[in-house]
Amino acid sequence: MRVLITGAAGFLGSHLCDRFVEDGHQVIGMDNLLTGRLSNIEHLFPKENFTFHHHDVTKYVHIPGELDRILHFASPASPIDYLKMPIQTMKVGSIGTLHLLGLAKAKNARILVASTSEVYGDPSVHPQPEEYWGNVNPIGPRGVYDEAKRFLEALTMAYHTAHGVDTRIVRIFNTYGPRMRLNDGRALPTFFRQAIQGEKITVFGDGSQTRSFCYVSDQVEGISRLLESDYHLPVNIGNPEEISILDFANEILAFTGSKEEVCFKELPEDDPMQRRPNITKAREILKWEPQVSRKEGFGKTLDYFRAEIERREKAEK
Ligand code: UDP
Repeated sequence: MRVLITGAAGFLGSHLCDRFVEDGHQVIGMDNLLTGRLSNIEHLFPKENFTFHHHDVTKYVHIPGELDRILHFASPASPIDYLKMPIQTMKVGSIGTLHLLGLAKAKNARILVASTSEVYGDPSVHPQPEEYWGNVNPIGPRGVYDEAKRFLEALTMAYHTAHGVDTRIVRIFNTYGPRMRLNDGRALPTFFRQAIQGEKITVFGDGSQTRSFCYVSDQVEGISRLLESDYHLPVNIGNPEEISILDFANEILAFTGSKEEVCFKELPEDDPMQRRPNITKAREILKWEPQVSRKEGFGKTLDYFRAEIERREKAEK
């Protein structure tokens, strides 16, 4: 198949590129490198079945020739990124998605768009099933991301019903693994960096808010299965194992062998209090569930972060 992946140089996008290249498909990676990094995909450049386009999908997207699949993963995705780049975040979720749905229609290609657990906002239903409509503050700091992704879902459904485009929508819950940016501000890379560098772990609020962390290889498998299923309504892909942020911080301290402790910082505005996917649909429709425990996932991620920090320190010398 000929596959276009947007956000190709990002964390998830680059792992998806790896997967589709390994499976022998012709992969076209696209990224404007706003938050993505070429180092995530450099190893793919020598492969004859990989090409890269440095392009911003909010500008018209043209791909000559046939296309079988489109995976739309371009977007700033961590809270500090979309706080810094609110308008780009809204444009890529709206105008960017419009361009890719138009491309899918023109090429008769199947398109899978990346949505998010953020569509549930600060959820009052727990765990979150796909039927829950969410509790999002449209004008809060997270609104730019949440509403862009809600628009992405609405537009995707509109293309499906009005134009018969073959669409898939994945709602991605917190995912982690190698190639996350150490300084992207999210809890997991921040906690690992702090633990490795002997700093205190910054827990926001009292740390009673919960998240459920999915290892990247499980996420990629779930996405691939959804893409090849015939189900066009949104599907949650995430790990239902829930943990409070305070316990998570202590787990990382213990895992890395750090002797530091946690310190408490102010809770950001609209920070969701709880988040855990109901994955009944993924289990039933895709026969998918996570395979990688936090312990195993942490091991691989820690190796990556250690190497990253070493590389940085050398570069600074
Ligand atoms: N968080 C924290 N310390 C940090 C970064 C994040 O306590 O240094 C908290 C954050 O307030 C949130 C949780 O960890 O409650 C997960 O945050 P993250 O940014 O990783 O993802 P999201 O909020 O989008 O799930």
